[in-house]
Amino acid sequence: MTVTTRFAPSPTGYLHIGGARTALYSWLYAKQQGGQFVLRIEDTDRERSTEESVQAILDGMRWLGLDADQDPVFQSQRIERHKELIDQLLAEDKAYHCYCSKDELDAMREKARADGKKPMYDERCRKRTEPVPGVDPVVRFKSPGRGKTAWDDLIKGRVAFANKELDDLIIARSDGSPTYNFVVVVDDLDMGITHCIRGDDHVNNTPRQIQIMEALGRTPPTYGHAPMILGSDGARLSKRHGAVSVMAYRDEGYLPEALLNYLVRLGWSHGDQEIFTPEEMLEHFKVEQVQKGAGAFNPSKLAWTNHQHLQTMDPARVLQHWQWHLDKAGVDLAGGPDPIAVIKSQRERCKTLVEMTEKSVFFWAPPSDYVEKAVKKWLKGDAQAVLEDLHTQFLALDDWQPESIQAVVNGIAESRELGLGKVAQPIRVAISGDAVSPPIDETLTLLGQEQTLTRIAKCVEFMKARADA
Ligand code: GLU
Repeated sequence: MTVTTRFAPSPTGYLHIGGARTALYSWLYAKQQGGQFVLRIEDTDRERSTEESVQAILDGMRWLGLDADQDPVFQSQRIERHKELIDQLLAEDKAYHCYCSKDELDAMREKARADGKKPMYDERCRKRTEPVPGVDPVVRFKSPGRGKTAWDDLIKGRVAFANKELDDLIIARSDGSPTYNFVVVVDDLDMGITHCIRGDDHVNNTPRQIQIMEALGRTPPTYGHAPMILGSDGARLSKRHGAVSVMAYRDEGYLPEALLNYLVRLGWSHGDQEIFTPEEMLEHFKVEQVQKGAGAFNPSKLAWTNHQHLQTMDPARVLQHWQWHLDKAGVDLAGGPDPIAVIKSQRERCKTLVEMTEKSVFFWAPPSDYVEKAVKKWLKGDAQAVLEDLHTQFLALDDWQPESIQAVVNGIAESRELGLGKVAQPIRVAISGDAVSPPIDETLTLLGQEQTLTRIAKCVEFMKARADA
């Protein structure tokens, strides 16, 4: 039997990082078993489901690299099949029509409360033989009532529910539309899901789903319920703890590999290894080792993880992700330095791709103006003369290499009896508009001789005009 896992998000918002984590677990499990990972869009709630949200889920999954092995299944397109199985259960007397009015149900609930019992449906329509005129009935599932429903959860171990706690569930509404737990069952069965790994907010649905599967004469899949992600305050992770949408992390300059790494480590460990490439996750991850308790989301650990990946990942791969940010910033790489070389030179000091973009745009686009603070601090005193010297000597260099560039910088510092900073910082301001860049020899090598000269000359003009003003 081919192992088949699924991720089944409801398209009612963005792709949440909690969802991404269970998707990752499912994806890893399928890949490790040589199985299939499928995506099912649970869009039967027509009011809350939106096209944009479907797209956001597809985009998020693609960005994370959690590719499905088949086209996504849209639950809303399967409604005829869901209804067919409702009819089957009715025909087999495993489900029945319930005509109870809202008032009756309210009274039932009131009575249970007064008796100090859990409000449950009292099964009165099980015995009803005649329809109630003018009432469109709901369909209820005949729950077993006795015994228990139990399963061996991949993560939680043995879980059992007493059947007497589970009353006759409504599986189709009065308009005929099947309800949530029922459609999940039908889809999991029809899609051949062998392992259902999901958030433990679904634990209470699982005994219901198992009972329905058994009533349909089928064997339930193996379940694994992963704990929720919490915020630092112990409450379930939500917007007020910071970004929870997967794509917000792309926008903030995170690498998908780093986000996956962070999510896999949240509640699972392998010795004291912190950094995992996707290949290493596939090698070492074991769903059975996922902790039972919830993990707390720690944004600074995520940032650290991102920085580690940025520094160790193949720069060509970093560039694939960085390109999106460069495009967004309107950077045209043509005619400028090799971006791979820029990545190598910047990645130690940049935690995110956004930071790398901000600090690197100058390589491809001359500064449109100079940061006032940097001007006040560095474009003063000898700076103009220094820049003029540099221009003359750089112009005369016929090997544009880090060593020769550094020799010029050192030579000018010596002859003018200045600290190196007083030479290097004005150059930085001249070429980038601000006083931060990788080591100056490296930066100028990358920038190229022609751009360096043009920008120094332009800065000298700027200083002159400012002095005249
Ligand atoms: N659609 C459900 C959700 O987004 C998941 C259902 C499941 O995994 O069984 O919470």
